[in-house]
Amino acid sequence: MTILPDADLPFDASMLDRLAEVSIRVGLNLQEGQDLIITGAVEALPLIRRLSAEAYKNGAGVVSTILSDDELQLSRYEHASDESLDRAPDWIFKAMGEAYNNNTARLAVVADNPLNLVGQDPARVAKVGKAMSIASKPAMEPITQFSTNWNIVSYPGLAWARLVFPNKGDDDAVAALADAIFSISRVDCEDPIAEWERHQKELTKKQQWLNEKSFHSLHYTAPGTDFTLGLADNHQWKGGASTTLNGITCTPNIPTEEVFTTPHSLRAEGTVRATKPLVHRGTLIDGIEVKFKGGKIIDAKAEIGEEVFLELLKTDEGASRLGEVALVPNSSPISTSGLLFYKTLFDENASCHIALGQCYSKCFNGDIGKDPEAVAAAGGNSSNIHVDWMIGSAELDIDGISEDGVRTPVMRRGEWAFD
Ligand code: ZN
Ligand code: ZN
Repeated sequence: MTILPDADLPFDASMLDRLAEVSIRVGLNLQEGQDLIITGAVEALPLIRRLSAEAYKNGAGVVSTILSDDELQLSRYEHASDESLDRAPDWIFKAMGEAYNNNTARLAVVADNPLNLVGQDPARVAKVGKAMSIASKPAMEPITQFSTNWNIVSYPGLAWARLVFPNKGDDDAVAALADAIFSISRVDCEDPIAEWERHQKELTKKQQWLNEKSFHSLHYTAPGTDFTLGLADNHQWKGGASTTLNGITCTPNIPTEEVFTTPHSLRAEGTVRATKPLVHRGTLIDGIEVKFKGGKIIDAKAEIGEEVFLELLKTDEGASRLGEVALVPNSSPISTSGLLFYKTLFDENASCHIALGQCYSKCFNGDIGKDPEAVAAAGGNSSNIHVDWMIGSAELDIDGISEDGVRTPVMRRGEWAFD
């Protein structure tokens, strides 16, 4: 891996300026004087440098950058002792948590090889994963609770590009992934900021309809899927922009196509078949089929990566229950691209999905989200994991079911069934 000067990048580097602008102004909505922590791969420096500059241009206080690298990650799996894998650098997560709880914004740049850990011993991968989940809690909680504004944005890394475009040469693959990222992130147009405003209006309309209906549960039918999912009491649908506890309206995910809320952790019944592979901690899990009873997965299998999937479900009590339900039309730009990105940020936005584990406490009416006990009482799940997996397709129908049993079409053949 090399860091290329702008002129040698196999794509139009000026698009990175637009992406940085959208990330800082729409994604983060960074405030005057606000500090910022950026995490990302060394390879993504051409974008990270622009993000830092754009942040300062928008009045940032102190921008701190924490860099990572696929080979650095592998060095641990290849050479560290088994015993040491139960440990994680708690101190860095505590420091990040402290910063986020004190109004520092968080920006993550995704560029790494999604399958970096394929070929590693699943037991060692699970060990590190568990230790990291526990240690990272102080840094994750302020993010899932929206204590501060945050954003995730992507950069076309070479290993990732090779995976998405296996039949292209290196430069062509990076260029193709760059084009896909710029287009799906809605920055390949005349006025990306205005385009994001228009997109947000659409997402808001869908949320409003769902919030007015306030369904008791959703019923999913598709090949291999016959599943009724209860929604949490006083749930609220969200999508695109969110207002954080520190009062800043940010758009956390770029791209984002989903409208989502918190399901009831004790009310899920029936069978679900995943429609796309899931990449979890560098491992591919495909062909997932599960059975729910009383909100909990009681039977699970996968054609590929079953061992990792079953370990994941055993992480803690909440890991086999649901923390998110999200609706995405099958005609979303990510879905129509026909590409599999091997990254949740992209693939989840291609399709309707559900997530195992931690719920988003912001998806509740009133002050419920501020009190973890009230969240739990309303049915919100808690766990050290949050893992999305795709269940949407052109064959999926969803009905909303009201408290008194009335059914309303929500999606038909993977598309919204209302305007
Ligand atoms: Zn989601
Ligand atoms: Zn999610």
